[in-house]
Amino acid sequence: MNAIDAAELRRRTGDLLAAHPPGGTEPTDFLKARFDAGLAWVHFPAGLGGLDAPRSLQSVVDAELAAAGAPDNDPRRIGIGLGMAAPTVLAFGTEEQKRRFLRPLWVGEEVWCQLFSEPGAGSDLAALGTRAVREGGGDGDGGDGGDWIVNGQKVWTSSAHLARWAILIARTDPALPKHRGITYFICDMTDPGVEVRPLRQITGEAEFNEVFLTDVRIPDAHRLGAVGDGWKVARTTLMNERVSIGGARLPREGGMIGTVSRTWRDRPELRTHEMHQRLLTLWVDAEVARLTGERLRQQLAVGRPGPEGSGLKLSFARLNQEISGLEVELLGDEGLLYDDWTMRRPELVDFTGREAGYRYLRSKGNSIEGGTSEVLLNIVAERVLGLPAEPRDDKDVAWKDLTR
Ligand SMILES: Cc1cc2nc3c(=O)[nH]c(=O)nc-3n(C[C@H](O)[C@H](O)[C@H](O)COP(=O)(O)OP(=O)(O)OC[C@H]3O[C@@H](n4cnc5c(N)ncnc54)[C@H](O)[C@@H]3O)c2cc1C
Repeated sequence: MNAIDAAELRRRTGDLLAAHPPGGTEPTDFLKARFDAGLAWVHFPAGLGGLDAPRSLQSVVDAELAAAGAPDNDPRRIGIGLGMAAPTVLAFGTEEQKRRFLRPLWVGEEVWCQLFSEPGAGSDLAALGTRAVREGGGDGDGGDGGDWIVNGQKVWTSSAHLARWAILIARTDPALPKHRGITYFICDMTDPGVEVRPLRQITGEAEFNEVFLTDVRIPDAHRLGAVGDGWKVARTTLMNERVSIGGARLPREGGMIGTVSRTWRDRPELRTHEMHQRLLTLWVDAEVARLTGERLRQQLAVGRPGPEGSGLKLSFARLNQEISGLEVELLGDEGLLYDDWTMRRPELVDFTGREAGYRYLRSKGNSIEGGTSEVLLNIVAERVLGLPAEPRDDKDVAWKDLTR
């Protein structure tokens, strides 16, 4: 086989386009063919949508396909699958799980959601109380099949109303300290024990949900990683989540800074000297964040970003909030117009879409979702800067004996 370099990827992309001309192929069929050609995520293994190629070469394929007007999947709809479930399944899944789940995930046929947060466990996620009990009482890791029965409540679950599958963490051994008694599962959202109720947000719509799990049955074959290893598996998800939320690949002046810059250019009557200074500072910060994201992506080993992603997500949240705030100020009275408080169930999670008032309100969640900014500062302090850790006195206490 030829070594996979940029020229080889261009050749294979050309072959794909010749065999499946974008104009004459149904978009899902094109995406399936792209996955099967290993051009979905080139750094994934051959047979699983990739070619074991360097991750940095993905941009070569993307540019060729965009120039040819080929259909693409939409991370605003399947971002949790693409950015969080897929790297976790790749890192910890069995061969069977990888073959079953990755293709429909990437193609967009199956939407995923994340059943992590609970009413009593957000920043302190390891405190979670949702229980998974192996039917028949056994809780060993003998791989002896059987089902797990799950009971509990999750909250803030984005896209649960659209999801076919969920990544779920649950407590399998309450007698162990909180980080050690957790197991990671893939949960079928069509199970009759899964109840999804909308939660309305500051924007008026309900993009997220509370999810009640009552005797939900999960086959042992849908366990991801070993029994009791769920925290380790979840950390892979969370590290990827931060890059996924804060690290989208953008062109220069993409995202929120692009929108406000366009308004600045198109509407000279709105400009003031003071806002000019603020806009320029934010423009530079946004460009630095964009280039830092690009560098981080190039540094990534396959699917396992480090704590640096927390720094990127921190900048993303701060910038989105400051930029959308500046935009509302710039637009004056017009910026305050937000009269559509319709209760919607959006199909897309879109931070930069719609009007200025929407962007301003939606960006408030950016410093909470995927880890709050305070918690990410702690991660950067401890794991990037090497500062002393916060005191933790509950690490060695059995979860069942913790005060809640
Ligand atoms: C738009 C949106 C979408 C979301 N989607 C999902 C989803 O799909 N799936 C999912 O599982 N969850 C989701 N979440 C939940 C999100 O992960 C949690 O809200 C977040 O982790 C914070 O947890 P919490 O809400 O319980 O707040 P808490 O943990 O109770 O935090 C309250 C406040 O205390 C601060 N704080 C807590 N601990 C510390 C500390 N050690 N040091 C300093 N300050 C601290 C926090 O920063 C925060 O300001 C979503 C949230 C939002 C806003």
